[in-house]
Amino acid sequence: MTASATAATGAATDYDVIIVGAGMSGLYLIHRLRELGFTVRCYEAGDGVGGTWYWNRYPGCRFDSESWAYGYSWSQELLEEWNWSEHFAAQPETERYLNHVADKFDLRRDIQLSTRVAGARYDAATNTWTVETAHGEQATARYFVTAVGVLSAPYTPDIPGRDDFQGLALHTAEWPKEPIDFSARRIAVIGSGATAVQLITEVGKNVGHMTVFQRTPNYCLPLGNSPIGDEEMARIKQDYPEIFRKCRESFGAFPYNFDPRSAFDVSDEERRRIYEEMYAEPGFRIWLGNFFDILTDRRANDTMAEFVREKIRGRVDDPETARKLTPTDYPFGTKRVPLESGYFETFNRANVELVDLNEEPIERITANGVKTSSREYAVDTIVYATGFDAVTGALVRMDIRGEDGQALADKWADGPRTYLGLTTAGFPNMFIVVGPQNAASFCNVPRCIEQNVEWVTDCIAWLRDRGVARIAARPESEQAWVEHCEALINATLLPETDSWFMGANIPGKKRVFLNYAGGAMEYRQQCDDAAQAGYAGFALT
Ligand code: NAP
Repeated sequence: MTASATAATGAATDYDVIIVGAGMSGLYLIHRLRELGFTVRCYEAGDGVGGTWYWNRYPGCRFDSESWAYGYSWSQELLEEWNWSEHFAAQPETERYLNHVADKFDLRRDIQLSTRVAGARYDAATNTWTVETAHGEQATARYFVTAVGVLSAPYTPDIPGRDDFQGLALHTAEWPKEPIDFSARRIAVIGSGATAVQLITEVGKNVGHMTVFQRTPNYCLPLGNSPIGDEEMARIKQDYPEIFRKCRESFGAFPYNFDPRSAFDVSDEERRRIYEEMYAEPGFRIWLGNFFDILTDRRANDTMAEFVREKIRGRVDDPETARKLTPTDYPFGTKRVPLESGYFETFNRANVELVDLNEEPIERITANGVKTSSREYAVDTIVYATGFDAVTGALVRMDIRGEDGQALADKWADGPRTYLGLTTAGFPNMFIVVGPQNAASFCNVPRCIEQNVEWVTDCIAWLRDRGVARIAARPESEQAWVEHCEALINATLLPETDSWFMGANIPGKKRVFLNYAGGAMEYRQQCDDAAQAGYAGFALT
């Protein structure tokens, strides 16, 4: 029982705050809440910390944000002692980093591993949340905070015959800890998103035979990874204040921002020169540091789309394979752009084959492999790189019930509704870190995670300090936020394209933009304005 909860806000609870998830958000939440004097319990489904970086251990998994702009910024000591080995570090290094953070800040004592949260319900009479785990264990808290990540509910398509397959079948986000030797295997990869692009490139280096089943080609761009030596790391450490300032002042919370010019403010030759320069640069600058109208004007977008198409054709030897790998029917950058390190060249290998599912759709999975409308592909391994029920999936898979027993899954059946992307009306004292309609799911995530966590923890401390027992988003504030989010996205080209951004990758899911398209800076401002006005838009009791 906690004195702070009883004295200030009524009924006693086991903890002040219960958190779901011990990934990047959960770890920082624990640290910050403890510093503010709250008692915390964090439930984590995995048997280790790290969230995304715990589950996604498929070959080739690595950052597509710069390592040094990705790590936590809130501990000077941590910044000084941690050395990144590469500009875009691989998954094992990030998992090590997050374990180091958990140890350094003694976070493990408040984390219960191997414990999936089955549901949580709000009790209006006591103004408490009761959280139940899949093992049937229950605990109560004043506040319920989800920190379940954006891409944490893996999606495996329900292809007929899926369970008939006699070989090894894996989803990339449920990869085993033991490495798999693919050198003598015949493998099928289904999917061609950012995950598949990394996996195919890595596995392709040493595989018996690989067949890639592609439904939609992607505008993949070079990652430009390289090692970081001691001297460069020392310079990066000196530059941290400037790096994080740039991130704070940019649309995507990256250390670069959109070019304020239109693609047509420069001559054709100059535009070409700029595209070439950006193509040679590491990271996402070519997507989120490009001309501002690339994502809002179809003609501007076409100039970039055609540039990428040319690059693909120039890198793939077989013209027919190149044609299949070249996107033509949706605008550049309206799906998350996969960054690659030799992806297209992988298809120049004799033992790598591409199947275009638009020409020969999958009919079923058989005991021996994948059967399309043309033939059966015999394999011993099927890798489903088929993505996630993004942003809302991990939330609605839990049985979360607010006032009057309303289920979150029912409330969001026609698309998520939030206020500030952090709360939802009818679910008092619940906060959603990195949830829908939140800039975090559309930016260099840790920068936005820090903003989310600081806002939520500041709010909880403010409520305690003023003896406020209950905070609830007002339905009219939520309505205004939903409309604000819709207006922002409708000014861009993104709704034209089916992607997980739009919830369009999951059959039956409402097709609606799941993120916040106003940029991380504007989002931070909106959150800060509400807080400074005494949590405007909320009912405080
Ligand atoms: P994704 O982008 O949703 O891609 C899933 C792939 O599976 C798509 O190619 C999709 O085709 C295909 N697919 C789905 N259902 C299918 C079916 N029934 N038949 C055939 N193909 C099917 O998922 P992801 O690649 O896992 O990436 C998700 C996000 O994770 C990324 O956008 C990115 O934000 C993040 N990520 C980040 C990194 C990093 O470097 N940090 C690495 C990997 C992923 P369609 O396109 O036709 O739907």
